[in-house]
Formats: sequence, structure tokens, C-alpha cells
Amino acid sequence: MKVVSACLSGVHCRYDCKAQSRPAIEEMVKNGEAIPVCPEQLGGLSTPRPPAERVGTQVLTDTGADVSAQYAQGALEALRLVQLCGATEALLKSKSPMCGAGKIYDGSFSGKLVEGDGVFAELLKKHGIKVTSIE
Ligand code: SF4
Repeated sequence: MKVVSACLSGVHCRYDCKAQSRPAIEEMVKNGEAIPVCPEQLGGLSTPRPPAERVGTQVLTDTGADVSAQYAQGALEALRLVQLCGATEALLKSKSPMCGAGKIYDGSFSGKLVEGDGVFAELLKKHGIKVTSIE
């Protein structure tokens, strides 16, 4: 079993209320091979919501509001789902401050990328889950 970022499976859970659907991911969910999760929503954040980026150990919105606690809580709840369904691999949306793996936005809201992981991707890696970034 795999876990996938819900927005990749057609769920309109992004901050701007849009999806980032990828047909291959949708097929995996339809075939029962993957479970979709959105850690940002699981952390209690609304949809739509202000865009946010990682800034050091914090996650801040574009107006400077600190949403680090919601990100931490959402990542933890999503990890519970990963463990409940026995998933060993996660296919996650690239660049996101929650799901991004390897490269994420740098906190300047200018589209610039830096090396690093989103909060959920980082937590999964710490728990031995294989994380693959999907563009
Ligand atoms: Fe998609 Fe992950 Fe962001 Fe939710 S938290 S909208 S699943 S990238």
C-alpha cells in the first residue's frame, strides 16, 4: 500500500482550492493501491487558505502568520494514517512546504527553491517511509 498527496488524486485540497491531478495517481487510488491524504487539512487548516512556506524551523503564511503548529499536527495525523494502512511508500507533491521532498520553496514567496523537505515528507523519512516527489 502507498500513500499519495490527495491533491495529486484530484482532490481540491490545495491552498487555492485547486487539485494537481495526475492520471496515474488517480488510477492507483481507484484500484485500491493507494490512500490519498492531505496533511494540511488534517492539521485543521481551511480550504482555501493563505499560501505558506517553510522559513527555518517555522512555517509562515505570506502575511507572516505562524502556522507551524497546524503543520506539525497535520503531519502527525497523516503519519497515523500511513501507519494504520501499513503503507511503506509515499508519492508526494513536489515543492510543497508540507509534502515536498528534496526541494521546497525558500520562504520568500518568490518561486525560488532550496534543498529541503516539507514537514510531512521530513516526518515520513524519519519513520523509514520511502518518499518520492511527484512534479
Ligand atoms: Fe497537496 Fe500535500 Fe498540500 Fe495537501 S498538503 S494540498 S496533499 S501538497
